[in-house]
Amino acid sequence: MDISCTNCEQIYPPDGLPYRCPTCGGLYDFRNPLPFDPTQVDRSQPGIWRYRHTFGLFPDFEPVSLGEGSTPLLWAEVFGRKIAFKCEFLNPSGSFKDRGSVVIAAWLQSRDISEAVEDSSGNAGASFAAYAARAGIKARVFVPESTSGPKRRQIEAYGAELVSIPGARTAVAEVVRAVADGGTAYASHAYLPFNLPGYATAAYEIFEQLGNKMPGAVVLPVGQGGLLLGLARGFDSLRIASNLRNNTLKIIGVQARACAPLWATFKAGNAVIGSIAEDRTLAEGVRVRYPLRRDTVLRVVAASHGSICVADENEILPGRDALARLGFYVEPTSAIVWSALAQTIQNLPDPVVVVLTGSGYKYG
Ligand SMILES: [Zn+2]
Repeated sequence: MDISCTNCEQIYPPDGLPYRCPTCGGLYDFRNPLPFDPTQVDRSQPGIWRYRHTFGLFPDFEPVSLGEGSTPLLWAEVFGRKIAFKCEFLNPSGSFKDRGSVVIAAWLQSRDISEAVEDSSGNAGASFAAYAARAGIKARVFVPESTSGPKRRQIEAYGAELVSIPGARTAVAEVVRAVADGGTAYASHAYLPFNLPGYATAAYEIFEQLGNKMPGAVVLPVGQGGLLLGLARGFDSLRIASNLRNNTLKIIGVQARACAPLWATFKAGNAVIGSIAEDRTLAEGVRVRYPLRRDTVLRVVAASHGSICVADENEILPGRDALARLGFYVEPTSAIVWSALAQTIQNLPDPVVVVLTGSGYKYG
């Protein structure tokens, strides 16, 4: 499974863990669709490890696991429709990030890397800290000062060193890049592509949980867009493997209006890039001013005839409460899907799947 620079096409090196191309600074990505093959799905394995053949890891390598994946898909009636909720907040560290972090940790282990840094608004950091603890990797996690208390405590409890950076999320990324450029491995969930096949496993699970059917629409929060890309690739590979010619899956991403670069670009094109705000929002997990794979994410959304929408700040907590009344206790970042549903449900074909990304325990 080839990984190469998306700019100069240099192949990912066999040693070390460069987070971007050392020659041109470009992003690494997989060259080809994920090699999902139903005959290679190993049902004796738990969770995401049933789909290990899509991860690009050495076959004889034994990765750590905390039981990630196999999350429930639960139905509820909302806005007059039956909607399926994929409960990703039930993953081991409380967010979907675990599907990706465990694969990143495996790459680190397989290259004998014993120390790494990561930056995060909280969930990816907590998730990485969990798998680093499990794998015996020394982790240092950089977070913005605004990261909520439970996420900070979770990162520290796993034994990672927490470094709090004043200012916006963008400032954190700059600091950690400087550390990484000094030689420490950067286990970045935003730069590295290794986590995308991990996120794609949620697509395989949804397909199976719908009775081997594609969803009509998937609604999810978007920050960097990693989950969106992973899911889209997972569904694409399923379509190829199942010989499904029609692509009717609509992808609906939602951002907080306080920081909505994907929405702004989707609506108005590249002209808006210089004027994107990065204001405070309860949806801290999607506060990403410069999504690294922005163009790829927007291309995928447009090709699906989907859209990117925004939630206003005053809609977030009511959305959280509405989901909790259905029994789903999620954090504010996840709750922006409620506003997205209200805006788009009329135009979404069944079955509609909403991804609930992070636990309500993360907030407070
Ligand atoms: Zn390059």
